[in-house]
Amino acid sequence: MTNQNPLPMLTNQVQIIGGGLAGLSLCAALGTAGIKTLLIDLEPPLPENPYQDAKDNRTTALIQNSINLLNACGTWVGCEEYATALTVMRIVNLPRGKQKYPSSTNFDSREINDSAFGFNVPNAVLRRALCNRLNELPSVTHLTSTKMETLEARENGYILNLSNGQKSIAELTVGADGKNSPSRKAVGIKSMSWPYPQTAITCYIEHSKPHQNVSTETHYPAGPFTLVPMMGKRSSIVWVEETSLAKKLLGLDEEGFTKALKEKIKGRLGTVKLFGKRGGFPISAMLSNSFHDQRFALIAEAAHALPPIAAQGLNLSLRDVAVLAELLIDQNNKGNDLGDIQLLEEYDRARRFDVFTRLAAADGLNRFASNDSAILHKVRDLGLSAVRNFAPLRHFMMKSGMTSPLGTPSLMTGKEIKK
Ligand SMILES: Cc1cc2nc3c(=O)[nH]c(=O)nc-3n(C[C@H](O)[C@H](O)[C@H](O)COP(=O)(O)OP(=O)(O)OC[C@H]3O[C@@H](n4cnc5c(N)ncnc54)[C@H](O)[C@@H]3O)c2cc1C
Repeated sequence: MTNQNPLPMLTNQVQIIGGGLAGLSLCAALGTAGIKTLLIDLEPPLPENPYQDAKDNRTTALIQNSINLLNACGTWVGCEEYATALTVMRIVNLPRGKQKYPSSTNFDSREINDSAFGFNVPNAVLRRALCNRLNELPSVTHLTSTKMETLEARENGYILNLSNGQKSIAELTVGADGKNSPSRKAVGIKSMSWPYPQTAITCYIEHSKPHQNVSTETHYPAGPFTLVPMMGKRSSIVWVEETSLAKKLLGLDEEGFTKALKEKIKGRLGTVKLFGKRGGFPISAMLSNSFHDQRFALIAEAAHALPPIAAQGLNLSLRDVAVLAELLIDQNNKGNDLGDIQLLEEYDRARRFDVFTRLAAADGLNRFASNDSAILHKVRDLGLSAVRNFAPLRHFMMKSGMTSPLGTPSLMTGKEIKK
């Protein structure tokens, strides 16, 4: 029997496809401003225990600008309890040939009068805080465990066909559905992508010695091995390995994996114990040819993806969120159409340079840091020595890692979002 009473079409000002951290953040920003917004989220609601039950066992090192945005969206309050200050970033180049000792440089946030570069937060905690915030916002509809099946273009906006049988339309559709973005493909925006022969292994550890809020990135020929401080005597690990070896490591039992991990940590944190799940993330980069189309915008990894080096990815994506949210909030306050093409062109122009320079830097840094060339090893040593001995260069590098060359979007400067 056919259904005689199809569900009514959902109508909103903005509809966002993808409930990753970027899509959730944009939804929280727009909802805080009272914009009627729908979020299509493939994920189920929330894990009870943000460490043990998390599907995503990564943490994110958030710089202060990103935290300001989350604060403006009313979300940071739910993360603070689990956030760990990052005060020192240590870069280590291992010894090679006749060298006995590694060379290293410390970047200390106190040298540039900042109490911390930022805070490290488990992704599951951030997701929980964002979902809780969406629940409080009357102008937001958050559909979990729901997939966008297809998109149909109409003059007044895209119609989304959802896996629960519903249809939805909005003045503006935003693709926040990750690197392989089905919405980007459905709209017909081309992109270029390139894989690296590397996979990032992720896990959490408990250790007997305190981390003292120091994040350590050690450069091995296959890729960086990074320890990032968490609450108490805990750290999260991003271990970039050549892909076939990463697969073998991920297949080891807990004892074998812990043994391999200890060889990388080299006793730095005392005795070490794994907790929670392990994860593996194949590394690739991607850049979309355009960040918009008629009544459609792309944000975050649906628009650009970087190798996970120097904790840039989500911080860059949150700048997309801040710029687009600000344009939409202004437009809404004037009572104008949120799918206006001039607004979308402005968004695209505002983001392209920042994204392109970060992508080029992350690509170059990943290639430079992950190889066994004697010459590049020497260049890395010389670079670290220059940075160690020349404070202005060190200060410049610390500051430029925390700001965009085109300035800071105002929602990242501590400005509140008003209805
Ligand atoms: C190992 C590692 C460590 C990292 N560390 C850092 C860090 O310290 N700092 C930092 O700034 N960045 C970091 N990053 C980058 C950061 O994790 C990513 O940039 C960020 O998670 C991407 O978020 P997103 O919302 O764009 O995409 P995703 O997280 O991929 O979210 C996309 C969402 O869309 C959903 N989706 C897909 N198709 C559909 C559909 N048809 N319908 C509905 N929904 C759909 C997916 O289910 C998913 O939930 C790291 C990345 C890696 C791999």
